[in-house]
Amino acid sequence: MTLENRSYKEKILLYGSLLGLLALVPITVYRFLSGDYLIAALETLLAIGVGSVSVYVWHTGKTLVPGFLVSLFSLTTIVVILHVKNPAVAYWLFPISLACYSIVDHRSASVLNLLAVFFAFPAIYPRADLHQVLVFYSAFTIQSFFAYIFTVANLNHNQQLSQLAERDALTGALNRRALDENMLIAINKLKRNHSFNKSLIILDLDHFKDINDTYGHSTGDEILIRIARLIRSNIRLSDSLFRYGGEEFVILVDNANLQEAKTLAEGIRERVEMGNIFEKRSITISLGVAELKHNLSADAWLKSADDALYEAKRSGRNKVCVASNAGTELAVAA
Ligand code: GH3
Ligand code: MG
Ligand code: MG
Repeated sequence: MTLENRSYKEKILLYGSLLGLLALVPITVYRFLSGDYLIAALETLLAIGVGSVSVYVWHTGKTLVPGFLVSLFSLTTIVVILHVKNPAVAYWLFPISLACYSIVDHRSASVLNLLAVFFAFPAIYPRADLHQVLVFYSAFTIQSFFAYIFTVANLNHNQQLSQLAERDALTGALNRRALDENMLIAINKLKRNHSFNKSLIILDLDHFKDINDTYGHSTGDEILIRIARLIRSNIRLSDSLFRYGGEEFVILVDNANLQEAKTLAEGIRERVEMGNIFEKRSITISLGVAELKHNLSADAWLKSADDALYEAKRSGRNKVCVASNAGTELAVAA
């Protein structure tokens, strides 16, 4: 896999390790040449550790444990070198502690950094005077404070962005993009696990144009919000609700064959009809159900459910129809 296709964390780890190795190799060679064998050996160990982790990340794409190990190796080596010899390496704690915030989660980074400066203290204090020690620790604390704040803010922004990117603003249901992704995930899962069951329910409000025309668009919007809320309260956490179009929704039902999804669809249909969603008029929905089968594309799966929905509409609305033999010759049954 090339670098472009890799996640942000993988890139940070791979580029960061490369940069670290580029800085480390000449320093280590210099130490060997100047007879500083103990430090040179420690730095060689660090280089081997960082190098091995990068190879692992490159091949597996995993970043959680590798990120933690790189942070741990780097901070430990700095603290050990501080003790063994050189107080000047304390400066390396600044960039490495910052790097930790971008390769492990903010809590782990804070704990690792706290441990590093704690164990560094006995090496720094007797050699530097109190004023220098205070400057070092206050600068380190301020840097860590801002690194923590920026990381948490960044995390929140990313969560909000992915929320915006995959949710419909009116009903809070997931959007078409998320539906495409989730259908592909299900199709790939079925390829690996042949006993995996997933069904799709597509539902459409009956005569919704008439409701809009009679009571106004904002009443129509409120009804859509209530329908989404009612569906959400009738499906499991492992199921997902998507807004497919204007007044059409899709439910991906986890671990359900056609019959089980049909039962769920029937329950939702009944609850919408009986649920007094709109005080002035009874609201009904029509539903089409299709189970995912082997070798079925996402389009064919959706189309088989959509054809069943069409049949429910054609045969009088306020009905559930199922698509049997999805993906082959379509047969629709009420
Ligand atoms: P059918 O039973 O055949 O589905 O009839 P229908 O009137 O529901 O279907 P049609 O496709 O003719 O009309 C769909 C209506 O849904 C038209 C459009 O104004 C309304 N609609 C689509 N999106 C929204 C929305 O976001 N808010 C509101 N209030 N109405 C919407
Ligand atoms: Mg409709
Ligand atoms: Mg429609």
